Amino acid sequence: MEKTTEKIINAVIYIRVSSQEQVRHGYSLDSQREHLIEYCKSKGYKVIDIYADEGKSARTKLKNRTELLRLVEDAKKHKFNRIVFWRLDRWFRNIKDYYKVQEILEDNKIDWECSSEEYNTTTSNGRLHLNIKLSIAQNESDQTSDRIKFNFAMMVQKGNIIVGQQGMPLGYKANGEAKNKRMIKDEETEHIVEDMWNNIQETGSIRQTLIYINQKYNLDIVYDSMRHYLMNEKYYGYYRGNENYCPAYISKETFDKVQSIIRHNVKFNKRHDYIFSGLLVCPICHHKLAGFTSKTTKSHGKKVEFRYPSYRCNLRYQQRCSYSKRPVEKTIESYLINNIEDIINTQVLEISKLNEKKEEPIKIDKEKLKQRMDRLTDIYLEGRISKEKYSDEFDRITELLRQADKIETEEKQNDNLNNIKDLFNKDMLSLYNNLDNKGKRMFWSSFIEYIEINENNEFNIHFKK
Ligand SMILES: [Zn+2]
Repeated sequence: MEKTTEKIINAVIYIRVSSQEQVRHGYSLDSQREHLIEYCKSKGYKVIDIYADEGKSARTKLKNRTELLRLVEDAKKHKFNRIVFWRLDRWFRNIKDYYKVQEILEDNKIDWECSSEEYNTTTSNGRLHLNIKLSIAQNESDQTSDRIKFNFAMMVQKGNIIVGQQGMPLGYKANGEAKNKRMIKDEETEHIVEDMWNNIQETGSIRQTLIYINQKYNLDIVYDSMRHYLMNEKYYGYYRGNENYCPAYISKETFDKVQSIIRHNVKFNKRHDYIFSGLLVCPICHHKLAGFTSKTTKSHGKKVEFRYPSYRCNLRYQQRCSYSKRPVEKTIESYLINNIEDIINTQVLEISKLNEKKEEPIKIDKEKLKQRMDRLTDIYLEGRISKEKYSDEFDRITELLRQADKIETEEKQNDNLNNIKDLFNKDMLSLYNNLDNKGKRMFWSSFIEYIEINENNEFNIHFKK
């Protein structure tokens, strides 16, 4: 009852996903939206509007800014008195722009709130803290890990609400209404779980898999949780007598194999480091191929066991992929050693051909363009040009920047390939043969992004850009 005397908060939600994040995974915008609506509800705020800046390509970057500018316009019209966003770097990644908009907000007595962290901008300490955070956001290049953490937290949150104390193993989420809910694979963490099961089969060590997964995805899974995941029968679809309880990640056979490793705490006697781990891509489903060792026993009077480190697509065992080949590591390695020089030469040739076509590479000064863009925004925010004029000029500068980026990428690629070429001219083979398998893996992955094997066992090598 007393609440009625309090000031009513009319909030708007601001969410943002960069074009890069959007290209990689299309879900972050929804996660932020869902989370912030919940957040406002829990605080008793009335949600007036949602502003979503979604970047896809250079063209939609205009839309990017437009949503923020629409918010600023609405702020001037006093449509709301609070802005809510998830993280500071969703709001601004640069100090100058932040204060530009902040000034307008203060003039109109509008404040903002960050759902993941508390900021107090009324004290000098608070402002200092904010400045530091903004500087970090400005320089931060890799947001991927944070984004996964965010979605991960969302997933855990959802799982707790729906499943209760039982919990939901990593890689699953609930689907359907309360009475009819089912466990389905969670596309947000599916790749992590696949990676986890591939890795435990390669390393045979919970500890190593734990370190690998935590480092790669910047997670904080503890040893016991990892152990529980790896002992959870749901991963092969089984729960309390039901063999089709949920979609499986692995076969029962694989599960049993991993259990015996965990139970006996034995390491594979001849643990093999797979040279092309993480580098080979399935030609059919495009998931990474996993290393495994195929064994054949031949008896010529005596029993002799042969081991062939090979690769396969684990999705085949879930009937989700039809790729049945199992390329042998030695074959791939020989192929690469024998052909890499030719492949690189062809690539260099193709790129230099492309460059020849353009008679004179156009020189575009990116820094100047960026400055011009900043000035344009200043002028617009000061109300000295119309929105239409701003849009037109924004489009023009964006297109020039896109061209500059394209030229830069091509030049960089050419440099890279020439460096690799140099590397191979220097007695590479003797150097290479002295490496152990881990070293070999590092060697190949230092310049190869991924290798696609087609159905005819031919290799398509994608170099790092
Ligand atoms: Zn596949």
